[in-house]
Amino acid sequence: MTKQLDGLMQNDFQLSVHHIRRALRANRPEATVATLVQPDVVERTTFAQTADRVDRLARVLGRLGIEQGDRVGTFAWNNQRHFELYFAIPCVGAVLHTLNIRLFEEQLTYIVGHAEDKVIFVDDSLVPALEKLAPSLGTVRNYVVMGDGEAGSLPNALRYEELMEEVGEGGFDYPEIDERQAAALCYTSGTTGNPKGVLYSHRSISLHSTATMFRDGLGLSRGDKVLAVVPMFHANAWGLPHGAALAGADLVLPDRHLGAAPLAGLIGSEGPTLMGCVPTIFSDLLRFADEHPSVDLSSLTNATCGGSAVPRQLMKEYEERHRVNIFQAWGMTETSPVATFCRPLERTAEGPREHDDAYWDERAKQGRPLPWVELRLIDDDGREVPWDGESTGEIQVRGPWIAKRYFREEGDTEKFDGEWLRTGDIAAVDEHANVQISDRAKDVIKSGGEWISSVELENELMAHPDVVEAAVIAKPDERWAERPLCCVVLRESCDTSADDLVEHLRPRVAKWWLPDEFAFVEEIPKTSVGKFDKKVLRSRLAEGALEGRVLVS
Ligand code: ADP
Repeated sequence: MTKQLDGLMQNDFQLSVHHIRRALRANRPEATVATLVQPDVVERTTFAQTADRVDRLARVLGRLGIEQGDRVGTFAWNNQRHFELYFAIPCVGAVLHTLNIRLFEEQLTYIVGHAEDKVIFVDDSLVPALEKLAPSLGTVRNYVVMGDGEAGSLPNALRYEELMEEVGEGGFDYPEIDERQAAALCYTSGTTGNPKGVLYSHRSISLHSTATMFRDGLGLSRGDKVLAVVPMFHANAWGLPHGAALAGADLVLPDRHLGAAPLAGLIGSEGPTLMGCVPTIFSDLLRFADEHPSVDLSSLTNATCGGSAVPRQLMKEYEERHRVNIFQAWGMTETSPVATFCRPLERTAEGPREHDDAYWDERAKQGRPLPWVELRLIDDDGREVPWDGESTGEIQVRGPWIAKRYFREEGDTEKFDGEWLRTGDIAAVDEHANVQISDRAKDVIKSGGEWISSVELENELMAHPDVVEAAVIAKPDERWAERPLCCVVLRESCDTSADDLVEHLRPRVAKWWLPDEFAFVEEIPKTSVGKFDKKVLRSRLAEGALEGRVLVS
């Protein structure tokens, strides 16, 4: 056998958050982080100042007795201090554990105990939510309160700025990091059983942050100003904070001001070019802009939306009425999270492309796998499904920023098939590798042995001018096994009926997809990360507590 000949490149250069931290000073030290501390007050720090504060914070972590591999929790909004923690914790070799502030109390207690967090950094505005839990968080030695507000009844509470003051100025002698080391931990909201921990490595974060800069992906560049609305406790805010640091892009953080009014104000005053958030926030913002003609969103030339299917109408209205481009991404906590991105070609061989129906059909898809992400579709019998744009199967993915196992769940194999992650999303892929998700496996409606895509029905319903929100769930049916039940929020004081909505759907979907029942509700319940919560709708249906149900005549 011939001996392997090694390449003579710097193969040992570790892909770690150290490099991203160094980029804060090396790339564009004058870039700014702007945090909306009050609805109309923005505080600004440069990347160079941030890097200095990260060094101080690293020393604070040492004082707190944080060692390599320790988990350090954050319970915080998107703001400057959280951004600092994104660097200091991984760079001292510890693990940044971003706690989802919107989880139920039992889930939070479970997560902190499961991760064995030693210290939790908490925003003062969130102290009331955390102090109730503190007696049951046995592993936590200290709470560090960020901001001047009360520490309440938190035991062993310290103050962030006091600690930063005490350690004084100066650099920090960081430990070397092996790129395989854990850098961050994020639990998925847990659709079944307890939440599961996804343990990101320095390598996966480095590569995923680099991928935020792919032109066919989020396309983050030095010229961007990035408004990260997607929470920093949700899959590392889709890689935007680390990506901005690496690219040298300005960052805008909304803290707790996530209503349409403060966000519109922030967009108007800061002029971000890129914004990342779930469709519900984009939809709230659009309605707000409709009601307030002075709102100017047009700086957003490169917004990214995902987390659930992005209604085509939403993207279209933004483009047509506000000259705002929203592109769709797909992924999950286990995929860091961006795995596919939809950025159709704007030019063909014949010249500029028209934004006609075919274009919008493409935009409504979840897009193509990013480089380094490999994707396959597997049917119920375990066979690979062809990429013909029609046949569907479960999406399975593998790649350097895809999870291979959950934290401390050695026996959990259901989500993994060898090196492939089973996503639980059902999709078709066309010959150009464009992914189109029809449903999550558990949301799919099985009617008379055929599948009805809840995602597509929702998409078409939300294209109706009077429909604000639509979530479609399966309703048990004696004859067909399941039929679609459409839960719809209508625009105020309109008189659209169930029959009108069926007429709207008739030319758009297969005949047997047409729903027989609607529930006109005041609001669709949302999950902790702002997605439609179909679990709640299903249990309301089962308990007979789903308001506003009407049959189609
Ligand atoms: P969870 O929703 O379970 O809390 P995640 O936030 O990780 O956890 O969500 C991942 C899921 O969100 C995906 O498996 C998929 O079902 C859905 N999703 C994400 N982006 C999209 C998209 N662009 N279109 C459709 N579904 C999406």
